[in-house]
Amino acid sequence: MKVICIGRNYAKHAKEMNADLPTTPMFFMKPDIAILRPGNPFFYPDFSKEIHFECEIVVKIDRVGKNIAEKFAHKYYREIGLGIDFTARDLQKLCKEKGHPWEISKAFEGSAPISKEFIPKEELALDNIAFSLKQNGKIVQSGNTNEMIFNIDKLISYVSQFMTLKKGDLIYTGTPEGVGPISIGDELTGYIADKEMFNIRVK
Ligand code: MG
Repeated sequence: MKVICIGRNYAKHAKEMNADLPTTPMFFMKPDIAILRPGNPFFYPDFSKEIHFECEIVVKIDRVGKNIAEKFAHKYYREIGLGIDFTARDLQKLCKEKGHPWEISKAFEGSAPISKEFIPKEELALDNIAFSLKQNGKIVQSGNTNEMIFNIDKLISYVSQFMTLKKGDLIYTGTPEGVGPISIGDELTGYIADKEMFNIRVK
């Protein structure tokens, strides 16, 4: 399976990163071993001093498709989850400065925690999904899919031009503003509306 992550899909996050707004979606990928399954702690890696959380709505692809028209994209997913795109911000800065690939900052083992549950899309208003992340009980990020620059159907259509999407692939749809550092001992809890989707300990 593939993990596809969308960059800069919320205007306020682009601003906090001093980045321009994109005119087309941007994506990068993480390998399958980046997925951190529910119930597992995240072990703070030795290679970074600045791991940031980025809480993101995740779409699970459930049908094979290529060159999917935006109007048919809704047929390719049934469930919505929540995850974190952990980012080694210190390494990412270096990679950006040098123009190097940024996999060491984004695609490392355990960098993509995923929720234990997925919610059937019929139970959600897809263009108005409120989600949030608590760090040690305090809300640090809250977003809503109504703030996305490119909605889920646009993202699926765009990505599928370049690669076939397969059942089980996950699309992390970008983070809202409020990204910040984690520390050993932290508890990170994600919510869609009031429903707890994941709870991760940093060790
Ligand atoms: Mg992200």
